[in-house]
Amino acid sequence: GSVAAAPCAPTPGALADGTRVPLLANLGDATDAPAAVALGAEGVGLLRTEFLYLESQAAPSVEAQTAHYAEAFRPFAGRRVIVRVLDTGADKQLAFLGHEHEENPALGRRGLRALREHEGVLRDQLEALVAARDQTGVELAVMAPMVADADETEYFVALARSFGIASVGITAEVPSSAVLADQLAPLVDFISIGTNDLTQYALAADRMLGTVAAYQDPWHPAVLRLVRLVGQAGAEAGVPVGVCGEAAGDPLLAVVLVGLGATELSMSPALLGEVRAELGAHTLAEARELAALAVGARSAAEARAVVEAELSRRS
Ligand code: PEP
Ligand code: MG
Repeated sequence: GSVAAAPCAPTPGALADGTRVPLLANLGDATDAPAAVALGAEGVGLLRTEFLYLESQAAPSVEAQTAHYAEAFRPFAGRRVIVRVLDTGADKQLAFLGHEHEENPALGRRGLRALREHEGVLRDQLEALVAARDQTGVELAVMAPMVADADETEYFVALARSFGIASVGITAEVPSSAVLADQLAPLVDFISIGTNDLTQYALAADRMLGTVAAYQDPWHPAVLRLVRLVGQAGAEAGVPVGVCGEAAGDPLLAVVLVGLGATELSMSPALLGEVRAELGAHTLAEARELAALAVGARSAAEARAVVEAELSRRS
């Protein structure tokens, strides 16, 4: 059904029973930050940092990075800001990370895999993030993209903590990290599920390829079951589990994700109002019931349909 428009002064995200679900913003660069605050973002759940690097053939200096991060952070002083360290490779190759032709770049040396081979680039980024944090007073958290297992998790967590960063996490977007979430959750301060890549990899369908676009649907029960694994592992380890992929901005799917164990949601700021309203219409018990229906479906379309049918049956 349709939901009420967001009120003028947005309230924090919560379910109908009062369970808090912080609603955070995905930002593509610093210029989006003031609008995100105006739309009620309680913090930043994903600051993508690729924009800084794509402009130049050389890695940006620590000083240049610090200035950009500080601009993005300033509207969020006193709040949590999760920054994802550089996620290139795949479709966006950078000369200073060394690039070779890859037949399947989505399965190649991207994200943390590339940074680990060029640790100086990662160290400069972490140094700049800490400097920007100290200038602006945000609660800085950092996370690594494309983490596959405990070895990669431990590498990133140790490095980021050595810079004095208090909150260090990973994205769960490679299916292996979701399958192994019980091993990874105790190693981190939070996990953020990237449903865009998680869907691409779970369904083995290139997210850039139009001919297989129908597979890129995070309602797919295989994706939802991976989300459930991460949710369960997070709950057991006492670690927050966010979702920062497109799925978090689909109001009904957002309810299902919370039912599967997501404790915070990050999305394009324009979607915050609708998601806030939908969450407010369901209790945690209801979200869990809807999630149980969705994971039992046989396809993405069926998962969506059973959840919609259950809601219209109730109303
Ligand atoms: C994701 O993979 O879901 C994600 C949030 O990151 P990106 O879309 O930048 O890969
Ligand atoms: Mg991703």
